[in-house]
Amino acid sequence: MLARSLSTALALASVVVTLSVVGAAATGVAGGRTLSIGYPNAGKLVNGRRLRETPTLRFVPAHAKSPARYGVPALLALLDHASRRVARRYPGAVLGLGELSAEHGGRLAAHHSHQSGRDVDVGFYLVRERGGRGLYPPRFLACDGDGKVKSEPGLRFDEGRNWTLLTALLDDRTAQVRSIFVYAPLRARLLAHAEKVGAPRELRDRAAMLMSQPPHAAPHDDHFHVRIACPPGQAALGCFDDSRARGVDGAGGLPVARPAAAPAGSAHASDALPRLPPHDASDEPPPAGGDDADDPNDDTTPE
Ligand SMILES: [Zn+2]
Repeated sequence: MLARSLSTALALASVVVTLSVVGAAATGVAGGRTLSIGYPNAGKLVNGRRLRETPTLRFVPAHAKSPARYGVPALLALLDHASRRVARRYPGAVLGLGELSAEHGGRLAAHHSHQSGRDVDVGFYLVRERGGRGLYPPRFLACDGDGKVKSEPGLRFDEGRNWTLLTALLDDRTAQVRSIFVYAPLRARLLAHAEKVGAPRELRDRAAMLMSQPPHAAPHDDHFHVRIACPPGQAALGCFDDSRARGVDGAGGLPVARPAAAPAGSAHASDALPRLPPHDASDEPPPAGGDDADDPNDDTTPE
């Protein structure tokens, strides 16, 4: 039944795709409606939009060469808005990105999901323990339950910046965040911080509901995995909000592939990189541009 409805949906989608391609030919590469097809762990992306770096949003160097920079417009706008909001509160803060989806979606090494343009990995905002200055690490860095960066003494998870990020993700009007995977002790630290700073109960409850540590996968102690819901109207075209069967980015029993040399607890090939000295983690640059700066990722006019 499910397979049948999926194939019907895919057939429908291919008609839309054909029409979209015609549209794209008429309007240029940027034309054509973006479609998220299938499941996050068994899907594809049509007319995916490429995320562009901004002063507040950069791919971490370890992921700089990845072609997985594509997503639905709402995901790109979400990241853009959220990183700006953090930088308004913490001038100079830069959100470090990992992978999104491939240009046409489908399977990506080191991920079970990230197939349909609605998943993204984002690094934690980290600070120096002495002085509290924010920094921009060269790759995702794993934190322990106390929030300390395991491999780099003197660096730590910043509850303030990361809670501000979560607040921005949950408040966003262009995208509905569906789930956020993160290591349970860091989730607890964020919720404790939110209570301490007097965040509204409703927001804390929503954050608690959306954040989880996937039970049968990497603990997500070096990044957040963020997934958004299907774009409005696309469920009818074959977009499914959640992963098929039991494989939510490895969350349902499918272990995430990782290189043998990678340290335990990470889903990312980049973690096999040699340990980098702390000075490779550059301090946050001075604030650049204003909130009115060009917004290359904001292409979310309602469809
Ligand atoms: Zn992920």
